[in-house]
Amino acid sequence: MSAKHAPVGSFLTIGTEQLQALMDVLKAAGYRTIGPRLMDSAIVFGDLDKIEQLPVGYLDRQDGGSYRLEHDDAAGYFDHVVGPQSLKRFLYPPGETLLESVRTNGQWQMKAPTIEPKPIAVIGLRACDLHALAIQDKVLLGGPYVDPNYEARRENLFIVAVNCRRAAPTCFCHSMNAGPAVDDGFDLALTEVNRNFVVEIGTPKGAEIMFDIDWLPPARNEIDEAQAVVTNLKAEMESRERRSHGNREAPRQRYLNTSSIHDLLLENLEHHRWTEVARRCLACGNCTMVCPTCFCAAVEEVSDLSGEHVRRERAWDSCFTAEHSYMNTGTVRKSTASRYRQWLTHKLATWQDQFGTSGCVGCGRCITWCPVGIDLTEEVAAIRGSEDSAGAKEARAVLAS
Ligand code: SF4
Ligand code: SF4
Repeated sequence: MSAKHAPVGSFLTIGTEQLQALMDVLKAAGYRTIGPRLMDSAIVFGDLDKIEQLPVGYLDRQDGGSYRLEHDDAAGYFDHVVGPQSLKRFLYPPGETLLESVRTNGQWQMKAPTIEPKPIAVIGLRACDLHALAIQDKVLLGGPYVDPNYEARRENLFIVAVNCRRAAPTCFCHSMNAGPAVDDGFDLALTEVNRNFVVEIGTPKGAEIMFDIDWLPPARNEIDEAQAVVTNLKAEMESRERRSHGNREAPRQRYLNTSSIHDLLLENLEHHRWTEVARRCLACGNCTMVCPTCFCAAVEEVSDLSGEHVRRERAWDSCFTAEHSYMNTGTVRKSTASRYRQWLTHKLATWQDQFGTSGCVGCGRCITWCPVGIDLTEEVAAIRGSEDSAGAKEARAVLAS
């Protein structure tokens, strides 16, 4: 069977052979195909040519400050969850040149490098990361100053999303309304069912790509099974989260109570918890580097030795560094407590004022990749659950210093 049209919103079934065909068709259409790959003992996004490069049979065990891979014969192609990387590094790379200046005969000429990126097709993007992408779109495309480089890369993105079949204990997408079901923003969405994939067509572009692939109409029970994958996972996350309340033995599931979180955090700017968390925080910035929505960057001019050629370079930066808040009078946020407070209140409160959305999608990366296991869900719960106390005086002194 070939050359069949499947309309947007329809479901179809493919096997592993057709998953390979999907990669081949995307490549033939001019896309660079990227997806999850096993590298340096983690699952990260890399170039994908063959489905054998997918981490089939691998599960990731994640918790505060810990990440381990385990082989499990029963695990499918996408039974890992999110790794340390997100799509951010492909659309908004860690470093890039914004402007080049050359002095010729005493005259400076400046030009912005032309960005003509090869279109990217990403395979295996999860619900939380689709929500993170929508947030980055608001930040980098939605305001009066559009980032042209991000725009050029974003325009040609093709998304093959995947519905998660399991969640790590660090995942709390269900409490951020950002998962686990993939519900929007994809060209194609896959759900792995019995070593086959039920594919939902999300856009006309997705339908076009599937046109030459030898797919089959799914059996009724396959669509039901695919839909049950995400509804069961959400129910399981909620149940694990309830069972883990106050029970250290129960399997853990993070949860963030977002009710009035904007006011809660901004009314507790001098809470003693900021200084307590700062005693553990290394101010390393890992949490901001792995976060799929953090977008802070530093810009500096880099000259060659002749002084005739200067590049304006942008690189990811972190609000945890002293330099990030440096102004003419010095560093504004001198203490780690004030930097952690800046990060958390921006992410969960003032981000809402700026962009009309939370800055967090509950992917849990900042919990897993924090070397000391600092957990924002615990920090918010501690602030919510405790009255400010005698520690407030010390906190005020540290935060004001
Ligand atoms: S919270 Fe953790 S990851 Fe973030 S700066 Fe502090 S120690 Fe580093
Ligand atoms: S703050 Fe943490 S959990 Fe939220 S989106 Fe960023 S990395 Fe994920």
